[in-house]
Amino acid sequence: GRRLEGKIAVCTAAGQGIGRRVAERFLEEGARVYATDLDAEKLKGLNTLGEVDTAVLDVTDGRAVGSYMKTVDTPDILFNCAGFVHHGTVLDCDDKDWDFSFDLNVTSMHRTISALLPRMLENGGGSIINMSSAASSIKAAPNRYVYMTTKAAVIGLTRSIAIDFIRKGIRCNAICPGTIESPSLEARISALGEEVGGVEKARAMFVERQPIGRIGTPDEIADLAVYLGSDESRFTTGTTQVIDGGWSL
Ligand code: NAD
Repeated sequence: GRRLEGKIAVCTAAGQGIGRRVAERFLEEGARVYATDLDAEKLKGLNTLGEVDTAVLDVTDGRAVGSYMKTVDTPDILFNCAGFVHHGTVLDCDDKDWDFSFDLNVTSMHRTISALLPRMLENGGGSIINMSSAASSIKAAPNRYVYMTTKAAVIGLTRSIAIDFIRKGIRCNAICPGTIESPSLEARISALGEEVGGVEKARAMFVERQPIGRIGTPDEIADLAVYLGSDESRFTTGTTQVIDGGWSL
């Protein structure tokens, strides 16, 4: 049978990149999916793939998150994927950059979990999957000052949820990828290309930092997300699942 048959999933940032592929794979594995994103355009095409409801949801809008979550059926899986990569050191990060990154990368998860956890508890539990990164408390990367700080916070948040509700059927795990193909990665490669004299050179630099010799794919992250969402991972909670082509070795 399909691995998520009968389950309901809520996903943020499902419009493109990793979030998109995870939402598609959840559907392929038999889940009913609430796929949300900031950008309505990016959600197009998801509707045809199975039992999916798409909705525009800005996870930095606390009121919108609260009211949207009231409209969804209680999920078995909550996948918090929304996040943004700020480029630079502490000297490039003003208060506005800092607040924006924390709001989008961390507070968003506080909002979705606060809104859904009471009903998930009533339901007997569920699996919460939070998108962190190897670039966090795990692996230092240059020019990722506030990004690393937020993604380390996601690991702390994940472990806190895991320990507080471990006897109540809630599992909470973090996914910590290395470099993964996505539209925003392409944008980062183009930007670096302008600095180093060519997009191909920039791409080679991203490949070079992955000891496995290539960039990962959204499908590889989706394999892990399906596992964490399914009952196959029923003894796994509070973990930081590193999936980085050996970057942190
Ligand atoms: P991406 O950055 O290409 O796409 C991000 C998606 O998030 C877009 O569809 C965008 O519309 C949506 N979004 C932006 N702001 C939003 C908001 N306020 N509310 C709701 N949705 C919003 O996708 P990606 O590169 O696959 O990144 C997805 C997640 O994975 C992020 O949390 C990112 O930090 C994390 N991650 C990515 C990589 C990588 O190399 N791609 C590595 C590690 C972690």
